[in-house]
Amino acid sequence: MPAPRRARRVRLADPESGEDIDDAIALWFPAPASVTGEDVAEFQVHGSRAVISALIAVLGRMGLRLAEPGEFTRRAFANGKFDLTQAEAIADLIAAETEAQRRQALRQLDGSLGAIYRGWSARLLRVLAHLEAAIDFPDEDLPPAIEAEVAAETGSLAAEIDTHLADGRRGERLRDGIAIAILGPPNAGKSSLLNKLSRREAAITSPIAGTTRDVIEVAIDLVGYPVVLADTAGLRESADVIEQEGLRRALARAEAAELRLFVFDASRPQDAAGAAVWPGPDTLLVANKIDLAAGGTALPPGALPISALTGEGIAALIDTLARRIAADFDLAAPLLTRARHRAALEAARAALRRSLTATLPELQAEDLRLAWRGLGRITGHVDVEDLLDVIFADFCIGK
Ligand code: GDP
Repeated sequence: MPAPRRARRVRLADPESGEDIDDAIALWFPAPASVTGEDVAEFQVHGSRAVISALIAVLGRMGLRLAEPGEFTRRAFANGKFDLTQAEAIADLIAAETEAQRRQALRQLDGSLGAIYRGWSARLLRVLAHLEAAIDFPDEDLPPAIEAEVAAETGSLAAEIDTHLADGRRGERLRDGIAIAILGPPNAGKSSLLNKLSRREAAITSPIAGTTRDVIEVAIDLVGYPVVLADTAGLRESADVIEQEGLRRALARAEAAELRLFVFDASRPQDAAGAAVWPGPDTLLVANKIDLAAGGTALPPGALPISALTGEGIAALIDTLARRIAADFDLAAPLLTRARHRAALEAARAALRRSLTATLPELQAEDLRLAWRGLGRITGHVDVEDLLDVIFADFCIGK
């Protein structure tokens, strides 16, 4: 046996035949100081199929089996090693593709998100305890001091949850990818720009107007941020039914996107007027084909000059985008990252609000209990059995 938590080089052999399996490293983590909180042995073997299948066969004869997907994390959760938000953070960390996603998952893993919810839970439980105690008093009405304290704390909790919810879904967007739509008149070079930004031939470019009839999406890592770029059909009047549908989708996509790149031909600055449909700072004007514009053409103010063909101006465009995204997403406070959390928080907030207008203290207490359960469900401290299967099934085997 290796000493606890010390790597030791060992020869692994089949206990029945005595035949060697591998020259390996073994580690031994006695409970409770292990990843799952249980006794854990770890073998580091040469990863070939033959070694692994021989080792698994031997372990199987000893009555061991392969872990289900997420089973280690689930056992760790069951043994109180971390809360549900941290278990989800592990899944996010495994799936993280960009720096920003990795940072967000790590921040959630360190427990700061769970700490916010547990803090609210604890305060709510105190309010509830006070209210229950008052209800249990045999006399008529609630003591006014308690009534006022309960109302004040309930109100401030609801307000804090409000602020947390009003985050523009930044955490969820960072998890799923920040949507940037590329728009503009046909042939302005939208597909070429998408290809340039994604560094591959994802969209078909052609000089024939109306080539991109559907929305083409490419997920890219933009200086550490997960971005989903969408190339859309050219914005123009058309009698073609399919093109009209493409146009409808382009408009819907543009509406939903975080940022819009309105691309136009630099030699036709009048086309930039089309961007007026989406006023505001989230629409950037991009003057393409500056390699052709032989100077002299005045660009609309703020337009970024680029050439999707030569690559001129692309670095500056990426820089502008990255700065815009960084300003929006680099926040110190941990963000809500999942629809599951959002739904539970919305339910908790609604219950808190209801409690404020409840006609009887018993009903008020019931609403506060519901709110408390909602918060507890996020971190996994109350009835989450049904949720666990869903959450841990997302993991891959061996995590
Ligand atoms: P879209 O309809 O807006 O998607 O435009 P495309 O990307 O298909 O480009 C239309 C045509 O313009 C193609 O022939 C491209 O090769 C050409 N093109 C795109 N960007 C540039 C550029 O920066 N300079 C030049 N000279 N041609 C470009």
